[in-house]
Amino acid sequence: MNIKFTSKHKPADTHFIFFFKQKEEFQLLSSSPDLFSLFSHINKTEDSLDGFRFYPDGKGKTAERIIFLELKPVKGNWNETFRRAGNALAKAGRSLSHLSASADFSNLTQLDAKPEASWFASFAEGFVLGSYQYTTYKKDENKKKKLRELIILCNELSGKTVNAAIEESVAISFSQIFARELVNAPGNELTPAELASRASKSAKEFEYKCTVLNKKQIKDLKMGGLLAVNKGSVNEPVFIILEHKPKGVKGKPVVLVGKGITFDTGGISIKPSAGMGDMKGDMGGAAAVIGTMEAIARINLPVHVIGLVPSTDNMPSGSAQCPGDIITSMAGITIEVDNTDAEGRLILCDALEYAKRYKPEVIIDLATLTGACVVALGDKAAGLMTTDDELSQTLILAGTKTYERVWPLPLFDEYAPQIKSDVADVKNVGGRYAGAITAGKFLQKFVDADQSWAHIDIAGPAFLDSQDQYLSKGGSGFGVRLLTDYLRTKVK
Ligand SMILES: [Zn+2]
Repeated sequence: MNIKFTSKHKPADTHFIFFFKQKEEFQLLSSSPDLFSLFSHINKTEDSLDGFRFYPDGKGKTAERIIFLELKPVKGNWNETFRRAGNALAKAGRSLSHLSASADFSNLTQLDAKPEASWFASFAEGFVLGSYQYTTYKKDENKKKKLRELIILCNELSGKTVNAAIEESVAISFSQIFARELVNAPGNELTPAELASRASKSAKEFEYKCTVLNKKQIKDLKMGGLLAVNKGSVNEPVFIILEHKPKGVKGKPVVLVGKGITFDTGGISIKPSAGMGDMKGDMGGAAAVIGTMEAIARINLPVHVIGLVPSTDNMPSGSAQCPGDIITSMAGITIEVDNTDAEGRLILCDALEYAKRYKPEVIIDLATLTGACVVALGDKAAGLMTTDDELSQTLILAGTKTYERVWPLPLFDEYAPQIKSDVADVKNVGGRYAGAITAGKFLQKFVDADQSWAHIDIAGPAFLDSQDQYLSKGGSGFGVRLLTDYLRTKVK
């Protein structure tokens, strides 16, 4: 797929012409005089202009066609406006058998803002993300013709600058699609070993480092949490270590940690059957981290980043851990396992302990951690827990820009007594109230007090019940664009 920004009109199978509504009047965003008269004419005769098709040859077959699409402004966010416009084009083109398309923005003077390169990068992003569907197991879908070229027409900006921005956003979008593929893959396909093998394949292709620790090495490291969760499974656990360090980049790394539960039954504290299939997505944090590592490698971002992914499934069996068990984590902290379905924090705490060896500048962990966070924020925002105000502000800003939004939840010390155990150093659940926060408080025990750290609970936005704009149902790949944008702020 080739996406190019240019000021020259080019022939294409389908021309997408954008318009928008201003004070109850439709305004065309194209400067072509022919289109203007056509548009005024159909504007008077048609009920709906959005998606209206016109065939200049009058045959309505495979010749060049024109499709009108409405640009629908998202208040105060031009990037998201253009991202959604890119998605509108992807959707309108889905039923067409076309190989080339153009998007006409040759007249933007009527918008009350000055066009920026990032608008078109967002447009390409919305188009690529909106084109994705999970079709691995659908035989017929894979035979369809695919669009080969998309031309974006606009003469207000330098083509060179915009094309460079588009190239980066497309690379990042493909990394997000890679993350979605990981989330959408069912548990019988994506075992911990398979997750590791896909991460290592990506690392080889895009030239970053990938090391996979096996069960014996995990035992040697005394990762008691990861081993306890894995006890009921026939699949061995893995601990994936990724590293992106371009030449000449110095200083402490940023460490990203992602929860990699490839399927979560809840274990002995088994979940209800309804909706359990969605639990193939319980490695959404791992997918975000692996996808981000791929993205920053593709765009060769000059920042040192480590990605850590502890991975296992969580199964009930004769050998599974039981409620009441007491385990010892890698940090030496003892944990009373009150509920085996609160397994994410048990594998994350070992990864957070492992992260210490890098003396990181920042640690950010992402996890589909609690249903409580979904109750609080739904699927439109992830819960952000941190004691570092500056990090909080930077992440919130990156979230607004990418529309992978995060929203703060407090880590007040007054919540800590909820995870006090009578028999161990800490308990893995804290009762019904503030469930997202007590999970955060649990993780905080495994991070040094002076360490800059953020925990992002992505249980809501990582896996969608229905299509949401350019995000299809199922795995959203949430976190890839958020983290990549955050890491850009670390470029010195
Ligand atoms: Zn669970």
